[in-house]
Amino acid sequence: MQEKPIRTIVVDAGHGGTDHGARGGYSSEKDVTLAVSLKLGKVLEEMFPDVKIVYTRKVDRFDDVNRKAAIANEAKGDLFISIHCNAAPDIKRVTGYKTQTYRDKKKRKRTRQVPIYQSYPNPAKGTETYIWATSKNNAKSESLRNNSVIVFDANSEETQQLMDTKDPETIIMLNTLRNAFFDQSLRLSNLVEDEFTNAGRISRGARQRNEKGILVLHATAMPSVLVELGFISNPEEENYLNSADGQNEMAHCIARAVKKYKEELERTHKAGGSARPAETPAPAQQHPEPLPPAKVNPAQEPPAASAGASAAAGTDFRVQLLTTEKVYTSRSSLFKNLKGGVDRETLRQKGKSINKYIWGNFRTEAEANAALYKARKNGFKDAFVLTYRNGERID
Ligand SMILES: [Zn+2]
Repeated sequence: MQEKPIRTIVVDAGHGGTDHGARGGYSSEKDVTLAVSLKLGKVLEEMFPDVKIVYTRKVDRFDDVNRKAAIANEAKGDLFISIHCNAAPDIKRVTGYKTQTYRDKKKRKRTRQVPIYQSYPNPAKGTETYIWATSKNNAKSESLRNNSVIVFDANSEETQQLMDTKDPETIIMLNTLRNAFFDQSLRLSNLVEDEFTNAGRISRGARQRNEKGILVLHATAMPSVLVELGFISNPEEENYLNSADGQNEMAHCIARAVKKYKEELERTHKAGGSARPAETPAPAQQHPEPLPPAKVNPAQEPPAASAGASAAAGTDFRVQLLTTEKVYTSRSSLFKNLKGGVDRETLRQKGKSINKYIWGNFRTEAEANAALYKARKNGFKDAFVLTYRNGERID
């Protein structure tokens, strides 16, 4: 039976060990990110006793970003939150001039006036929350493929086949899931910034980023955000970032945003998601013989899957492929592109045996929608998603 949708949240304290990150007047980014990450994790643990909180580090330790992403992927996280601080370079101002002695080309001693500079802290301040830049979409899909987050248990031969990048349908399925993750990450980034604004912080907005150090956002096979808590280079914000009150406030802001995000996903799910077609199941002979697989252009993006890739406890999803009097085994060539198993359910209707062919199951609605897309591309034009709770169909 399927488990809850958000089972694991990964909290990543940016930098650590020999990597100090940005430096303020008296503190280092790595220490602020660790303190806030530990507080955030604690708040989340109290808020969601049934969600596992995984930390990429709990001590002052260096790991490169690939290792951090690997920790998140190995934990099979459902959400990745990376914590960082911003910095802006000092501003130099001319405060006066001094007389300098030098020698000209003929070695004569001369004097000139040169400016005296003084550095001032950059006044830049406020919070920013980042998601991966869409230019990194291919890298994100690749992370999804490498981590086999879709559909089935990793490491099985079938999964390896399913994750064959030469298969255009696989690419589309991965991209569909990636688009759902993108929508979810974007939504969370806005919720985080809203909470900071409500707490009286200056929000510089939710943004996309495509720079060094942001690798964790596309290397993690899950919805991912990176929160810049504030500018450690701004003396006022540096004090706030280092204060217990400030750290608690930031941790609670992020946790409240995560709570809203989680609740929204659950509501979307309750409302029935979005990608399910309007038609109802089970007219006999609905689709006696599937059409040959449609030609798929891998460059062509399918519509983004429902952002509601979440479900209540014990909920899972399957894809009903077709209803027919004909009997096919699960090994039928009809299903050869649909890895992971197709079940047949037989029911009697007006003296006839009607067979329903059902593919799955899928952990989240986004995965089911991605699978639905693949099923339709394989000729199952009338396929639709079924929702189950504790093994009982509920839609
Ligand atoms: Zn940083």
